[in-house]
Amino acid sequence: MKYDRVRDSDPEVADALEAEVERQRDTLAMIASENHVSEAVMEAQGSVFTNKYAEGYPGSRYYGGCEHIDTVEELAIERAKELWGADHVNVQPHSGTQANMGVYFAMLEPGDKILSLDLTHGGHLSHGHHANFTGELYEVEQYEVDPETGYLDYEAIQDHAEEFDPDIIVSGYSAYPRAVEWETIQEAADAVDAYHLADMAHITGLVAAGEHPSPVGVADFVTGSTHKTIRAGRGGMILCDEEYADAIDSAVIPGMQGGPLLHNIAGKAVGFGEALQPEFEEYAAQTVKNAEALGESLQEHGFELVSGGTDTHLVLVDLRESHPDVTGKEAEEALEDVGIVLNANTVPGETRSPFVTSGIRAGTPALTTRGFDEEDCRYVGDLIARVVNNVGDEDVKAEVAEDVQELCDANPLYE
Ligand SMILES: *Cc1c(COP(=O)(O)O)cnc(C)c1O
Repeated sequence: MKYDRVRDSDPEVADALEAEVERQRDTLAMIASENHVSEAVMEAQGSVFTNKYAEGYPGSRYYGGCEHIDTVEELAIERAKELWGADHVNVQPHSGTQANMGVYFAMLEPGDKILSLDLTHGGHLSHGHHANFTGELYEVEQYEVDPETGYLDYEAIQDHAEEFDPDIIVSGYSAYPRAVEWETIQEAADAVDAYHLADMAHITGLVAAGEHPSPVGVADFVTGSTHKTIRAGRGGMILCDEEYADAIDSAVIPGMQGGPLLHNIAGKAVGFGEALQPEFEEYAAQTVKNAEALGESLQEHGFELVSGGTDTHLVLVDLRESHPDVTGKEAEEALEDVGIVLNANTVPGETRSPFVTSGIRAGTPALTTRGFDEEDCRYVGDLIARVVNNVGDEDVKAEVAEDVQELCDANPLYE
């Protein structure tokens, strides 16, 4: 992949772009929220739509010249409806965080109460963290996963809701390896007359393909990122019943955004179109099988997984028992040195700081996109074990780096 026109105009940026293509090609992208979109999605995202203002919605814009923009936004909406079976979809949020903001801004008043999962237990900043606008504007209390099992404790969520009387309960997570029981959380919300926002950010693709139970039609509001497992253009979306459609749409614009990023929406439309093809179901199923294989391989090497395994695209490794002297950060850095890119992650009951941590999170969406199967992912587990068992050993690292390069060469990307 060459960026000749950028190079003519700006060699420094062209260098960085081409170096990034090489980096993605020659490393294993195992950050669970990442994926490699198709070149069609990238072409749509880097398109002439970036020039256009289209404040409003299809058929009712504040600007002229929107006929082609309307076609593309309508395609994105129709395809999303088909993928997730929602009544109403808003594809304009610039990111998953903006999608959540849209729901809060539509349904809550400042000072209202949010009940959500603690960040260090797998939640997200936009669910009420003190450093986020949600922590500033709303009164937040948080639930945790069961420290023994690593699973959500649904009874504790119900009890907490009874006690706190929240206006909204947020479910959907960044580092939770197990299937979520949306119905049970909806019941907890109904019991206290709260809304339920299911943020399926990470698992949008798994839900679309039937690999994870769907929150659509269960939770009052569903939000998602469009660039994670669903592998479409970068951004967010909000799904809801018709009764909330107007409130959501006007919260997004004029409420909190200006002109939509129509080039990204074009990327969403193209990626959603790809996800409607039968191959996408195979992709999503393989992603989950690969995470399982990776997890089993790590367990065979003595690593402990939070919750003992996975139902999704990711595993969360708790290093405290198996490697008490290796922090998440040290593991992350040693693995990055050999071309395995993942992230240090807090684990339930974390005792180290969020910058150090005692865990690592690893996902298979991007590896699966480039063709990895279970056998490859078991082997990746072997490689991770060799590095983490020998942190600081430069000879081991040099050997593993060669093995990683071989794996990358056998599974080419963006040829
Ligand atoms: C990734 C993620 C988001 C959205 O992230 P953006 O970076 O804003 O797109 C929201 N919620 C959860 C649970 C996530 O994992």
